Amino acid sequence: MSLLVVGSVALDSVKTPFGQVEEALGGSATYFSVAASYFSEVNLVAVVGSDFPDEHLELLRERSVDLEGLQRVEGKSFRWRGEYGYDLNEARTLETQLNVFQSFKPVIPEKYRDAKYVFLANIDPDLQRDVLDQVRNPDLVACDTMNFWIEGKPDSLKETLKRVDILVINESEVRELAKEANIVKAAKTILSWGPNTLIIKRGEYGALRFSNHEIFSAPGFPLELVYDPTGAGDSFAGGFMGYLANVKELSEVHIRRAIIFGSTMASFNVEDFSLNRLKELTLPEIEKRFRAFKGLAHFEDL
Ligand code: AMP
Repeated sequence: MSLLVVGSVALDSVKTPFGQVEEALGGSATYFSVAASYFSEVNLVAVVGSDFPDEHLELLRERSVDLEGLQRVEGKSFRWRGEYGYDLNEARTLETQLNVFQSFKPVIPEKYRDAKYVFLANIDPDLQRDVLDQVRNPDLVACDTMNFWIEGKPDSLKETLKRVDILVINESEVRELAKEANIVKAAKTILSWGPNTLIIKRGEYGALRFSNHEIFSAPGFPLELVYDPTGAGDSFAGGFMGYLANVKELSEVHIRRAIIFGSTMASFNVEDFSLNRLKELTLPEIEKRFRAFKGLAHFEDL
């Protein structure tokens, strides 16, 4: 079943205590697509500039990501520069150059418009709604955002949320968006704005899912090697949506499995810089770690 993602395809410069990369392949839609590609066909809509290295796109092609919706326009590509301290849960954004994103108008190719699963990755909330206007009748719309938009375009973001089923954001973004320090109260507030489900990404501590009826907690996978958390959130979303698009069911059992597949993909992603770990995974490796998650949190009833 088709899965559509709209977001950034970027050149990232990232420094962590364990190394650094300059102008490496990054972007919210990139991480999402590669993670989701292990589960489902993926259709990508984004923009890059004339300076974007073709070898970066080759990686997406190798993962069979459909690039008909990727526009290449005259100008410089989107660039993000960030760094992390020893607390890898919080990125410090040093620079965001929107460049070709400033005048980007997402055009959804006709063959993508019947997508049943739609992920609005982290981009301008105005653009996220432009996308929804072009998709005919999706079964599930999920979206991400970040402090850049929560602070920069709060009203537009709230308009987008009215049209979204699942919001997937970081813990600090939940607090900032709801203007509420308590995470349970903040979740209630956000759910009253439109989404029926809120997934809170908590970095190395895992993920929490709130709906009007259920709370589900997924642990973080204890890793010995963590090099670069960039893209962990998008890899989570890719595993989550990719799994759901593949099973085509939104029951509680599948939503919970999807959260664990999301956590699995995020845990692999942080083991190397850029897409280096994600691009070379195998399905048996993914399933092995999925099962290891079960062992981590399982206990017997009294
Ligand atoms: P995360 O999964 O939250 O670590 O996402 C990191 C990715 O988001 C990086 O690869 C960046 O290129 C991308 N990114 C950072 N800021 C923005 C922004 N304002 N709009 C779109 N994408 C962004």
